[in-house]
Amino acid sequence: MAGKLDSKLLQALDVMGFTNLTPVQQRVLTDLPNWRSDCLVQAKTGTGKTIAFLLPALHCLLQGSSATPRGQVAILIITPTRELAQQIAKSCDQLTSQLSTPLRCDIAVGGTARASAFARFMREAPSVLVATPGRLKDYLSDPAAAEKMSNIQTLVLDEADTMLEAGFLADVKQILRLIPPKSTGWQGMCFSATVPPKVRDVINVVLKPGYSSISTIEKNEAPTHERVPQYHVLMSSVAETFTTLTSLIQLESRTSSKIIVFGVTANMVALFAAAFARGLTPLKVFEIHSRLSQSVRTKTTEQFKEADSGILFASDVIGRGMDFPNVDLVIQVGLPTNGEQYVHRVGRTARAGNDGRAIILLTEAESFFMKTNRHLPIKPHPQTDAITAGAASCTETVTKVMYTIEEEKKQRAYSSFIGFFAGSGLLKQLRIDKAGLVQLANEMAIKGMACPEPPPMDKKIIGKMGLKGVPGFNYASGDDLVRRPHHRTSGKPRDVLSHGGDRRGGVEKRRGGGGGRGRGGSQRV
Ligand code: UDP
Ligand code: MG
Repeated sequence: MAGKLDSKLLQALDVMGFTNLTPVQQRVLTDLPNWRSDCLVQAKTGTGKTIAFLLPALHCLLQGSSATPRGQVAILIITPTRELAQQIAKSCDQLTSQLSTPLRCDIAVGGTARASAFARFMREAPSVLVATPGRLKDYLSDPAAAEKMSNIQTLVLDEADTMLEAGFLADVKQILRLIPPKSTGWQGMCFSATVPPKVRDVINVVLKPGYSSISTIEKNEAPTHERVPQYHVLMSSVAETFTTLTSLIQLESRTSSKIIVFGVTANMVALFAAAFARGLTPLKVFEIHSRLSQSVRTKTTEQFKEADSGILFASDVIGRGMDFPNVDLVIQVGLPTNGEQYVHRVGRTARAGNDGRAIILLTEAESFFMKTNRHLPIKPHPQTDAITAGAASCTETVTKVMYTIEEEKKQRAYSSFIGFFAGSGLLKQLRIDKAGLVQLANEMAIKGMACPEPPPMDKKIIGKMGLKGVPGFNYASGDDLVRRPHHRTSGKPRDVLSHGGDRRGGVEKRRGGGGGRGRGGSQRV
């Protein structure tokens, strides 16, 4: 690419230690009719897609082939999560680090002080803006800020398939109404590791008909990396989740030391983290999900990127796009939203040519996931028997740890578990009814979390979950739950969110669609 790409960008790649372009970068730079062409690009996780969209966009901006006046945003990048926006902005800064005139890249994401971020945006007039949809909509509703985005040259949707799914599509469409129309000629770039067919039905909102379609994945090739062995471990009951996970991590941490464990809801992840931090593993425990403040999330992200070892208990806030170097194992506990989400979670390991392993822990009733996703090469874990035996023998240890955890934390995990399934449309596939779900959750709470009785549930929340009148609940009066009335996180009010805004901060809410399609639960992740 020497001679073609801006020399300062080439210099920056060199400084970053990237001497060869990755295949997707190569394809984008050679296959596009020109670097201002609309495109849909699919390449596996961790193969350098970020630089693949930044390079042509920045090059065109630097070569002055852009019609964007100085002081305005030329490149607008939209991502589903705040952490991903921060990560992309960092890559952009690295790529522009060798320019003689600095090129500013700013981020606009939820969960940060809006006023100061907005003032910075207005003052510093960035050429590149990386944003999550909620905060971007918010900026665009201000005429002076919208003016700064009135000559966009390139619009990138990273994780494009999720950006064009039900949960985000309305936001994206609204953003498109607030920036100049497509007919003004801005370039649309859509990137993802997964492009389910239905995405193509709506892709025309950002791409012109006749757009270039690039994929580095063969037609019948699995969407995950061949070098990642993928296993499932099945449990007979969900009550065994904690012991089985303990046993599995014990076994796996003999060979893996930097691990990510995904859970189904934020509150379940919080319970895992609390339990493991109390002695279930010698590894350092990290925790990330939407129930934590953005400053904690950002700090944890940085720490885990830097860490040589440790376990990050995570919800889908880091399920896509995030680059934590050298993660050698990804464990998913419970069902991912769909086959695509499974692929993205697995994609947190084996990045940039490294090796990795992936394991999914499911109940036997949930094993339909493998049947509905036959294209995924998931095999039984070769040591399933040892893991199951190990689970039985660590029951006492896990119970002891569970006794030390506040009932409120367990209650929230319990409630979120019920909310997740109640809103998921999965009960049929699990062959249980609503009463069966409550029974299952009760069993998990009593046997798995060492609760003395089913955790108390508020009637209003039960109602919001659509479970009014379902037997098996330990009905609480409001007072039971709010034991500490001034404690913000006391069990009830925030557990079920039916509406989110970007307070949902990008994928803080479960989104429907996908392999277990038709799922539209509202449980926060
Ligand atoms: N990377 C690389 N060579 C490159 C560009 C990136 O080795 O030319 C590394 C990058 O530092 C990161 C990893 O590859 O650690 C994944 O990059 P990215 O997040 O862009 O991958 P994506 O999942 O978006 O394809
Ligand atoms: Mg990416």
